[in-house]
Amino acid sequence: SHVLVTGANGYIGYWIVRKLLEQGYTVRAAVRSLAKGQPLKDYFSSYGDKLELIAVPDITRNGAFDEAVKGVDGIIHTATASDFSIVEPEDWIKPALDGTLSVLESAKNFGDKLQRLVITSSVVAAGFTDSPPTVRITEEDWNDLAVEITKSQGRDAPVMIKYTASKVLAEKGEHLYRANVLHADTAAWEFYNKHKNNLSWELVTILPSHVLGPALQPLQGPETLNVSLWLFYDAITNPQKSDEELKGTYNYIHVEDISQAHVAALQRAEAAGERIIVSAGAETFQGTRNLLRQLRPELYEAKVLPVGNTALDVTPAYIYNIEKGKKVLGLEYEKEAKILKDTVEFFESRGYFK
Ligand code: NDP
Repeated sequence: SHVLVTGANGYIGYWIVRKLLEQGYTVRAAVRSLAKGQPLKDYFSSYGDKLELIAVPDITRNGAFDEAVKGVDGIIHTATASDFSIVEPEDWIKPALDGTLSVLESAKNFGDKLQRLVITSSVVAAGFTDSPPTVRITEEDWNDLAVEITKSQGRDAPVMIKYTASKVLAEKGEHLYRANVLHADTAAWEFYNKHKNNLSWELVTILPSHVLGPALQPLQGPETLNVSLWLFYDAITNPQKSDEELKGTYNYIHVEDISQAHVAALQRAEAAGERIIVSAGAETFQGTRNLLRQLRPELYEAKVLPVGNTALDVTPAYIYNIEKGKKVLGLEYEKEAKILKDTVEFFESRGYFK
């Protein structure tokens, strides 16, 4: 079978491409330019023609994926704005929303062999909060608040909120943000629900929590890590973190599991038409430091990593409901200790701890 992967040269993209190639798929990797895709091609050179590159310079252009979708059985759309130095809400929302719409349109019009379209959303599109008692968040939840804050605060909204708004809008709908909607039907679920009776394929959205584990793409130092690895790196290495920051919650998933979850979403009959959270558990940043200190005491004895404030309450503020995902995808996920160990060993292998 033949699968189109967008954002193929990103952190998760590389791993999805790897899982697909290992399982015998032919992969069409969409990248913004062939030059950007060359390191990917080089990394997987042993697979030869099983990996092909296609340049899609502007994913927001209507018809951008018309050529890319022809002849594929599956699509995994991961590309979205992901650089936390982006300031303008529109620069977050346009690639997320219009990028998703152009994949959907091209799939509808030219996906002659298509059976599944998997879109990478995020757990942030379901929700998050900031103080215990621990809230349980499910696939029924939507982070409409992030859209409201982005609307009212514009460029001054926190970057995480603007990113979150872009993910909500891509899944749920442009009309939540703009008064005069240009498209007749907007965003993933509206589009799918309107057209599904006439489509040969089914939609799945995957909502990953904070993805950790080794990166495969070329990097030049920790500053060039993707956002999830960078935030984690900063959380465990930065001695200046305030108690408030250390009490902050995140939920985690191993990069190998999130990539396999995307592949399972292509394969499993039960996944058709589902919105699926994929996460292994909840933690705080101080809780991470506490556990890492048990797993790798020498890093703390040698003062390579800061201990933080061990007196803090490390009860997570929110946890995601993962039962549906495990059942529908038929997967078990790596546990926290293994995820932390793999991530720290990856940083060490690159000499990222001074
Ligand atoms: P990366 O930053 O590593 O990868 C992002 C990918 O998207 C790159 O291939 C990048 O290409 C592409 N991209 C970014 N902006 C554009 C644009 N304007 N037009 C076309 N392509 C673009 O991020 P991740 O691998 O971590 O994220 C992949 C997906 O997973 C995203 O949808 C993200 O929202 C989602 N996600 C990630 C989580 C995580 O913890 N990492 C958690 C939940 C969801 P280029 O190199 O050309 O910029």
